[in-house]
Amino acid sequence: GKLLMKVLDSFADKALVEKLTRRIAAEAAEREGYTFMEVCGTHTQAIGRWGLRNLLPENVRLVSGPGCPVCVTPGEYIDNACCLALKEEAIIATFGDLVRVPGLTTSLEEAQGQGADIRTLYSPFDAIQLAANTDREVVFLAIGFETTIAGIAATIHATRQRKLKNLSFYLSFRLVPPALTALLSDPELQLDGFLLPGHVSIIIGLEPYQLLKQHHSSGVVIGFEPVDILQGVEVLIAAVNAQESRVENLYPRAVKPEGNPAALSLFEQLFDIVDTPWRGIGVIPSSGYALKDSWHDLDAEKRFHLPPLTASMPPGCCCGEVLKGIIQPDECPLFAEKCLPTHPIGPCMVSGEGSCAAYYKYRA
Ligand code: SF4
Repeated sequence: GKLLMKVLDSFADKALVEKLTRRIAAEAAEREGYTFMEVCGTHTQAIGRWGLRNLLPENVRLVSGPGCPVCVTPGEYIDNACCLALKEEAIIATFGDLVRVPGLTTSLEEAQGQGADIRTLYSPFDAIQLAANTDREVVFLAIGFETTIAGIAATIHATRQRKLKNLSFYLSFRLVPPALTALLSDPELQLDGFLLPGHVSIIIGLEPYQLLKQHHSSGVVIGFEPVDILQGVEVLIAAVNAQESRVENLYPRAVKPEGNPAALSLFEQLFDIVDTPWRGIGVIPSSGYALKDSWHDLDAEKRFHLPPLTASMPPGCCCGEVLKGIIQPDECPLFAEKCLPTHPIGPCMVSGEGSCAAYYKYRA
């Protein structure tokens, strides 16, 4: 324990941080401007918490990306889940951060007020316990990126093995690499590189990021401490200066080049890759998973004939632009005025990983 704390402390070491920021300032003098995107909501949180934007030279801009699973989950998904709870009287099992997110017409919290049975779980495996102890239908809201998908895939597999008939999964999974391709192909965005998500990379490894090279861009897989993030920025600046495309792993203490082969092979066994709508962004080709035909009995969408999803947003909310890094959260006219964590208009103000929530919390 003590050794781990010591190691982690070294990643927040003040002298090291100062040394890195000095080096970054010197290297960033070479060009007029650099824009990098941190794809992952946990990095947005860490950058806000440590005040790292203020440590970077003015011409180095970090914009936040679409890596908040709750934020990119379509509004209809939440409405459909409420409908399942209220009309079908199913027990809805979900991660807590989805409960307050506004759908298009309602939220799980509102449905709960109308008598819906919503259970907050910490692990998807708890859904098995829940279903084993009731005769009612239990629907698990299966949202997330590759990291979370791994745990849910294992739960789906275990549900089949236990022959549980009253548990199904409402899938709204999203994959990071196709989102990078979409961002790189968007003419509105001029990104010079990506700070790539550490946790997702533990599952998928490094190979999927080679796509960055085809787009003449760069990416660094990083951890979540200040030194991790600043080192990532330094590598990206060096790549721009050298006019090179680089994909580097600066998080080898957690990420192996091959990722997690057991999880990846389970994905292949369970899922087909499908085009998927990202809330506020649009449909991104091949960016999601659906259960294969042989697993349809566990698919809540099929079991309850749920209507399809789109990428629509609440009126006036700029979350789409925020998620693509076109504007910063505080440039949304509703930010901190009509849209507050206590009264969120869009999903990005609710989730712990949402950019608007992070900017609001650390705005001082
Ligand atoms: Fe949407 Fe609120 Fe963020 Fe504006 S501040 S983009 S309304 S979540």
